[in-house]
Amino acid sequence: MDATKERARVVIKRLKVRYRKDMHTSLEHSNPWELLVATILSAQAQDRQVNKITKKLFRRYGKISDYCALTPSNLYPYVKSIGLYKQKTKSIINAAKLIKKNFGLKVPNSMEDLITLPGVGRKTANVVLSNAFGINTGIAIDTHCITVSNRLGFVRTRDPEKIETRLMKLFQKDEWGSINHLFIALGRDVCTARAKYCERCVLNDVCPSSNVRP
Ligand code: SF4
Repeated sequence: MDATKERARVVIKRLKVRYRKDMHTSLEHSNPWELLVATILSAQAQDRQVNKITKKLFRRYGKISDYCALTPSNLYPYVKSIGLYKQKTKSIINAAKLIKKNFGLKVPNSMEDLITLPGVGRKTANVVLSNAFGINTGIAIDTHCITVSNRLGFVRTRDPEKIETRLMKLFQKDEWGSINHLFIALGRDVCTARAKYCERCVLNDVCPSSNVRP
């Protein structure tokens, strides 16, 4: 096993212990459609903020068929506190219509089909596949994953697709679903975009960017 793969093995093992409570999405949902809507809303927004919105939204509009009949102005009162709400509203309503037309009102469970939906790229599709269907076809890469992957020396790029490809080579397939959650937890806790708190990090003896000296 090469040194980076060995480091990746140590990283995942320690993160699973440290952040075991965070190994699932914090976006509240009770079915794949709700998770898809929440994930679309979560772009450049905090999960906490999304959960606040979806709590009321899902109580009012529960099924995909409800959304097919909506106009954007029906949704605006629920989502207007979140960034890019007009674009996100358009994506959600058009996604519902396309799911009705092409997939019999069922959220598709393949990467190929999911990325045909408006507002759904690989990151959103990976979140839905992993958390709603238990299917790992890739690794969802968000800003925390970008920061953490670079600091841990796994990549030297901010390109999400290149990072995903590299991480998929470094980690076992059955771990792909956890990587996103664990890197987000690490990124929120000690390895934030603005600052790193290496003295509190469980990886400070194996991380090439650590400022803790042995
Ligand atoms: S040791 Fe520091 S730089 Fe490395 S992952 Fe931990 S907090 Fe980030």
